[in-house]
Amino acid sequence: MPQIEPKSRRDISEFGLIDRIRHRLQRSRRDVALGIGDDAALLRIPLRRELVATTDTLVAGVHFPRGTEAEALGWKALAVNLSDLAAMGAEPRWVLLALTLPKVDMRFVRAFMRGFGALAARHGVALVGGDTTRGPLAVGVTALGVVPAGSALRRTGARVGDDLYVSGTPGDAAAGLALIEGRLRAPARARRILVARLERPQPRIALGLALRGAATSCIDVSDGLAADLGHVLRAGGVGATLDLAALPRSEALALAQPDEAQRTKLQLAGGDDYELCFTAPASSAAPIARVAKRLKLRLTRIGTIERRRGLRLVGADGASVRLARTGYEHFAR
Ligand code: ADP
Ligand code: MG
Repeated sequence: MPQIEPKSRRDISEFGLIDRIRHRLQRSRRDVALGIGDDAALLRIPLRRELVATTDTLVAGVHFPRGTEAEALGWKALAVNLSDLAAMGAEPRWVLLALTLPKVDMRFVRAFMRGFGALAARHGVALVGGDTTRGPLAVGVTALGVVPAGSALRRTGARVGDDLYVSGTPGDAAAGLALIEGRLRAPARARRILVARLERPQPRIALGLALRGAATSCIDVSDGLAADLGHVLRAGGVGATLDLAALPRSEALALAQPDEAQRTKLQLAGGDDYELCFTAPASSAAPIARVAKRLKLRLTRIGTIERRRGLRLVGADGASVRLARTGYEHFAR
């Protein structure tokens, strides 16, 4: 029989650990009436805004390779959550952190907090609470943000005739994983860039904010472009043709020299990019180009929304292309 441990029974060192976290990461924000230390946090939500809430858990061996450095893990656990806020067009404000650790390991926690803290500081979010427990390594983050009421971006809303866009250069993170797992090779410099794209994704917060009022739908690419775009198409009751030749490729990915089939698979079915995939009417093309320039971020038109349902892929020669596996699905075999 497994031994059941009451949730309240804690090692004294756990409290020391929470203290460390608090001292390292609690930042003052005027909208935090009460942060870490009580039974719950008190947050001030501005008038006429909606609270945007999301949570995502990373489990060792499932969502990150077991050898992942604690600092990279701290960054990524926060990044994947901020990316969900970005996809909603929300302004991130507060986060909660549920840490499950096999043992109280201050070195691990310090490194984790460096990664987590660096990204939190970059976006000005405050850590306002969480939970610390013993068990197999897992990190859960809850991120909270705000949007003016009624203005959040959603998966629904793509309209026939809209242009389809993606930010950045999809496939890099999947290439980073392929490099780590020895399925791909690349020169050292390209390898560093691609692995960093896997371990240190940049949540596209500024882009999400800029797309409010310009995009008709938006999603962040976590499970692979084809799979995530599929959600947008189903939610909107529409279809799309995606032009493979238009898919933006990074120089680093080119240096890894995947063959055509492997590259297409990395770019369409590889996950973990945390770029934004969005739709917008042609009338938004000029404003979107200005946003790209201002944010120094590649925003590429990769296709068109159509009435006929489903996703169609066309190659450089205009011939249709099939993709066997569209993305990463949990519990899929
Ligand atoms: P309770 O037993 O009432 O849930 P805890 O002892 O778990 O309280 O937590 C004490 C305080 O420390 C709470 O404010 C909680 O939000 C915060 N906290 C616990 N673990 C973490 C963590 N990993 N990161 C941030 N805050 C945490
Ligand atoms: Mg608790």
